[in-house]
Amino acid sequence: MAKRGRKKRTASPPRPRFSRSPEDDVSNYNNKGPLRIRLYGDPVLRQKALPIPKITDVEQKLAEDMLATMYAAPNGVGLAAPQVGVLKRLIVIDLNRDDVSSKPLVLINPETQRLDGESIEDEGCLSIPNITAEVKRANEAVVSALNLDEEIVSVKTEGLLARVLQHEIDHLDGVLFIDRVKGLRRQVLRKKLRKLKHNTLRQ
Ligand code: ZN
Repeated sequence: MAKRGRKKRTASPPRPRFSRSPEDDVSNYNNKGPLRIRLYGDPVLRQKALPIPKITDVEQKLAEDMLATMYAAPNGVGLAAPQVGVLKRLIVIDLNRDDVSSKPLVLINPETQRLDGESIEDEGCLSIPNITAEVKRANEAVVSALNLDEEIVSVKTEGLLARVLQHEIDHLDGVLFIDRVKGLRRQVLRKKLRKLKHNTLRQ
């Protein structure tokens, strides 16, 4: 998910979050640096991602590359694997991306256990650039998942993190935030979306 908002005006040098050496490369997942973010119109965004049966070096590397991709995008606070063309149930989130000491969330096979309350806020998405819209979601969420150490974790949260979790888990089921915009607002979006899709398909 992309946080709407002020772009930082002061340029800061990129922070090295991950060390990378030739030994880090995993034979069947051999990307370097940020991955290509799939844009609206790319069919992969509409497919359902599959559960990850076992967490291996491949998933470790995928999570690392997804974080690098998210940090490389201005305002990126969450990213789901289908957004980089990988149909696996893995999401990464970092709401404090400007704080070097913050630890990002990496959730594998996340499952929503409970949703409560209601909130309406603006949302954006790295796969749907330059479009934001108000989306109604639950204000509180309890999500269970595995972390990269294959431990079961439970995230009980509210507000922005609850929203980002719902947004990213939606991606794993091929659902985009614009699908949750109804009525007139959806009509307004339609034209912009058509243009975006046209550009994506032309690439
Ligand atoms: Zn998104």
